[in-house]
Amino acid sequence: MSFAALKDEIAAYVAGPAEAWATRIERERRVPSELWDELRERGYLSLAAPAAYGGRGVPFTSYLELLELFSMSHASIRMIVHVVNGTWRAMDRFATDEQRQTFVIPSIQGEIKVAFTLTEPTAGTGADLRCSVVRDGATYYLSGEKHLITFGTICDYWLLFARVAGTRGADGTVALLVDRHSPGATVVEMDESMGVRGTDHGHLIFDRTPVPVANRLGAEGEGLEVALGGFLTPSRISVAMSCVGLARRAHELAIAYARQRETFGKKLTQRQAIRFMIAENATDIEAARALVMRAAQAWEDGEARASMLSSMSKLQAVEMLTRVTDRALQIHGGIGFWQPNAIERVYRDARAQRFEEGTNEIQKTVIARELLENA
Ligand SMILES: Cc1cc2nc3c(=O)[nH]c(=O)nc-3n(C[C@H](O)[C@H](O)[C@H](O)COP(=O)(O)OP(=O)(O)OC[C@H]3O[C@@H](n4cnc5c(N)ncnc54)[C@H](O)[C@@H]3O)c2cc1C
Repeated sequence: MSFAALKDEIAAYVAGPAEAWATRIERERRVPSELWDELRERGYLSLAAPAAYGGRGVPFTSYLELLELFSMSHASIRMIVHVVNGTWRAMDRFATDEQRQTFVIPSIQGEIKVAFTLTEPTAGTGADLRCSVVRDGATYYLSGEKHLITFGTICDYWLLFARVAGTRGADGTVALLVDRHSPGATVVEMDESMGVRGTDHGHLIFDRTPVPVANRLGAEGEGLEVALGGFLTPSRISVAMSCVGLARRAHELAIAYARQRETFGKKLTQRQAIRFMIAENATDIEAARALVMRAAQAWEDGEARASMLSSMSKLQAVEMLTRVTDRALQIHGGIGFWQPNAIERVYRDARAQRFEEGTNEIQKTVIARELLENA
């Protein structure tokens, strides 16, 4: 299938079947397992992975165009596509051949679900983490807590980041594939979130949970490199493109509403105030999209600035999304604040993007460090 045909197919899927799923997810407040099956069977979970692993081998910049389309859909659909098309990258760089067969390829093929498990309730994200392991022969014993973990209750494995007890900073951190059904693991489904409804988020408590040392990716001390190394840049760019797609959806909804709503004898599209908001939204989206594609190209070309550009693109895109969804809701007037108006959902979903793959504060920290210390 040509890329153009694949893009058309996904655009039709997003406009048709995905909208039906969106309605069902919002009503039932859960993501049906049949949706996972459908996305897998359609090949949408293996778009970005190499053909050698059974993936469709779509180059990164082209994959982003597809992710942009999925991001116009329900946030839970975008989340599944984004996470499964991305997590293999974190695992693959450090996997042994055996681990590739056991974890990476089955994840790409949708046979196992892997949840990226980094954030902790009692520590900062990254070198501050407190979950720890103690080794006894061929087994680590894991203790500590994680929370906000997407797919954390329904997954088969947690790709979990911890540290060897007694170490500090990045030293001694480990990346482990922890079986979801391990003894000593308490899994609590978190209460409903503001947006991204239907997707489960786990609060996990580990009390001397045994994990085979063979399930460690990379060496002791490389845990954060697995979590944040070569994986983070493309993942940030992907989240930035998700913002572009969601903003496009908000923009389209606003235009459609403004075309039909009449006040004081005129359509909203005839009011300069509304026309200006529409013009600003379109300009905002184009500008952010251009920076996202610039960052993606830099990553594909192996440019040294790719990491900084990924943070810039995430920062810019998420700020853009905030402005665009706010104006789009404003154009809808009060009714936009009510369910089941699609803009109400899009507005809530947009807010989550300011946390995913690092907050704005963290992006600015990365950019400033690169400009002032590393340049
Ligand atoms: C919908 C959703 C899904 C998620 N899914 C996952 C997942 O699958 N896996 C996972 O591991 N995590 C997940 N998260 C967690 C997400 O990655 C974190 O919320 C995010 O990284 C921020 O970390 P925190 O919540 O611990 O905030 P905190 O670190 O507590 O930060 C609180 C505030 O302080 C600021 N801040 C913190 N440290 C600094 C600093 N050093 N300098 C300046 N400002 C700082 C932050 O920017 C923020 O504004 C998810 C979150 C959401 C909302």
